[in-house]
Amino acid sequence: MTDKKINIAIDGPAAGGKTTVARIAAGRLGIVYLDTGMMYRAVCWQALQKNCNLEDKAALGRLAEELDLRMIPDAQSGCRVLVGETDVTDVLHNPDINKSVSIVAAVSAVRADMVRRQREMAVAGGILMAGRDICTVVLPDARLKYYLDASLEERARRRLLDLQRSGAEVTFEEVKAQLAERDYIDSHRADSPLVQAPDAKYINCDHLSAEEVADIICKDFSEVD
Ligand code: C5P
Repeated sequence: MTDKKINIAIDGPAAGGKTTVARIAAGRLGIVYLDTGMMYRAVCWQALQKNCNLEDKAALGRLAEELDLRMIPDAQSGCRVLVGETDVTDVLHNPDINKSVSIVAAVSAVRADMVRRQREMAVAGGILMAGRDICTVVLPDARLKYYLDASLEERARRRLLDLQRSGAEVTFEEVKAQLAERDYIDSHRADSPLVQAPDAKYINCDHLSAEEVADIICKDFSEVD
């Protein structure tokens, strides 16, 4: 546990292990973890529920603004996501959302609303936030900033294991192609593309366990005054 009220920002490509690392580090440090990807996934879930045309940017922006979204810290999953009174956490990694979330997240009006909510949650300090634009846009003044990277092969291998554990029938090539497509959209969009902030520490996670990456973050944290 800590009484340091500093913010930690983590960015990186899809399935690079951010969630596991963030959950371990935040748990050890006793600070709140916010998985911002789950927020974009919740917007996408609502858009699909409402049969919203994903090319209608204005409609997606309105939908994001009106979304009754609550992110509840949870020691086990890291974060539970409520839309209204419905706990949608367990459906947010479904294939239809994986397929469409980057399209929804590229809409500026959606981003503006999510970034506003994320900054509000960080005002008091003492939060670890992970996503794509946290170091660059959401919390550029965070005291600790990281870019967690891993090769596409390694990320696909890890994501495939997760999917197989949850009973999904997908091939390595399918998972790899989908991650590559999501990375491409996330890093080529006009608004807040995924890039490494110049002052973020780069960590290649190919040969590091989540525990080892969390060790690095916790050590850096202990050295901040
Ligand atoms: O982190 P995760 O893979 O769950 O994020 C899902 C999607 O949400 C990303 O592929 C990206 O399109 C979007 N996202 C984003 N900005 C963030 C977090 C996620 O655009 N800060």
